[in-house]
Amino acid sequence: MAERAEIVVVGAGPAGIAAACAARECGRSVRVVDENPHAGGQIWRGELPQPWRTRWEQAAVPMQAGATAFGFAGEQTLLVECEGRAMEIAFERLIVATGARERLLPFPGWTLPGVTGAGGLQALMKSGLDLAGRRVVVAGSGPLLAEAGASLLAAGALVAIVAEQASFRQMIPFLGRIAARRGKWTQALRIASALRKTRYRAGAWPLSVERRDGALSVTLRLGPRREVIECDYLACGFGLLGNTELAQLAGCQVVNGCVVVDEHQRTSVLGIYCAGEPVGIAGVESALAQGLTAGYHAAGREDLATACTPGRDRGRRFQRVLAEAFALRPELKELATPDTIICRCEDVRLGELAGFLTWREAKLHTRCGMGACQGRVCGAALEFVAGMPAASVRPPLVPVSVGVLAGEQ
Ligand SMILES: Cc1cc2nc3c(=O)[nH]c(=O)nc-3n(C[C@H](O)[C@H](O)[C@H](O)COP(=O)(O)OP(=O)(O)OC[C@H]3O[C@@H](n4cnc5c(N)ncnc54)[C@H](O)[C@@H]3O)c2cc1C
Repeated sequence: MAERAEIVVVGAGPAGIAAACAARECGRSVRVVDENPHAGGQIWRGELPQPWRTRWEQAAVPMQAGATAFGFAGEQTLLVECEGRAMEIAFERLIVATGARERLLPFPGWTLPGVTGAGGLQALMKSGLDLAGRRVVVAGSGPLLAEAGASLLAAGALVAIVAEQASFRQMIPFLGRIAARRGKWTQALRIASALRKTRYRAGAWPLSVERRDGALSVTLRLGPRREVIECDYLACGFGLLGNTELAQLAGCQVVNGCVVVDEHQRTSVLGIYCAGEPVGIAGVESALAQGLTAGYHAAGREDLATACTPGRDRGRRFQRVLAEAFALRPELKELATPDTIICRCEDVRLGELAGFLTWREAKLHTRCGMGACQGRVCGAALEFVAGMPAASVRPPLVPVSVGVLAGEQ
């Protein structure tokens, strides 16, 4: 028999936590599902800061941890895989707060061991990887690069350079915005002060990486010249991409990679809300404001939801500034050679994809996107490099065992 809650929240990052607390405080029955073992999402990772820790503890929302939402059984029942078995959770309203992942772009050598995402290496470090004395190159794009560089330095890593592909000129409106907000300015000053121990270069990006004599050898484009740097890790991510797949599977409208919502975070599907990074990349404050808006509105408190709109609107403006400041330069589309692997799950190279006009065609002929990540990495890469939009999503969203599917049958 399906479990049941009035409001089900998928994702226990800042957006999901805020939504669940808001709905619970309004007296609704709420259930949270997250594939991670702890609440907190990418930024907090189980260590909720105040006042959210107290609010989350007091709300005491039942949470199914280590549980991945992978589909729907009918319009109002979520399918979840947990500890190797399928669960059904029936809902009246669903809040999708599934966050974002790093955008990884292909260039020669990007699949070598030791090449990770920028946030990915930071996450490994937070989970116990000792980077003291290890040589690291941080490259790619977005505010997360500087944040990752600063935290790697604090952990004793020898960060040779932080290479940001956007030009300094392009980033000026973003820096202006940061300077105007006291909380963000303090955070930026902390990061800038930490980065004094390394080089931060705008208009710089990786061209290729090789493994030589046990070390990585990264060739970077630094303005008009090239530089080769030896390191143990290349931490490289080109911004974030919202995890829109669950919302898409539910039939919600998605435009330019963002779930479309109204001023109360309602999607195009009745009873389904979306909050946080799937709506657009805008940082933690925006995720919290959107989560509160969605939670209050789903709980029937439109007045409280409307009171959150100033924070939500600020986040939407920041989202636009962020997108323009870190827009990817066209040169990055030319980095992959015909021999470069595009789909790392199925070992499909760029040359094998030549001539296909659609993702579906490419998938059927080469298995590109049919591996464990289900196109989450190569789909975005191919869209950027070859302008080939990823195919529509299908259940199950993530690979689940036949036993789980059979249990569901
Ligand atoms: C790798 C990475 C590192 C980051 N590091 C920082 C940082 O150091 N500092 C910073 O300011 N910002 C960081 N960010 C950005 C930060 O995540 C956002 O600013 C903000 O916290 C997003 O909140 P959210 O609730 O929308 O998403 P998230 O915090 O990403 O939370 C989404 C949650 O949904 C869960 N989820 C997703 N899909 C499913 C599913 N199908 N079933 C069940 N659960 C699911 C995830 O496990 C996750 O816990 C990082 C982002 C990434 C991707």
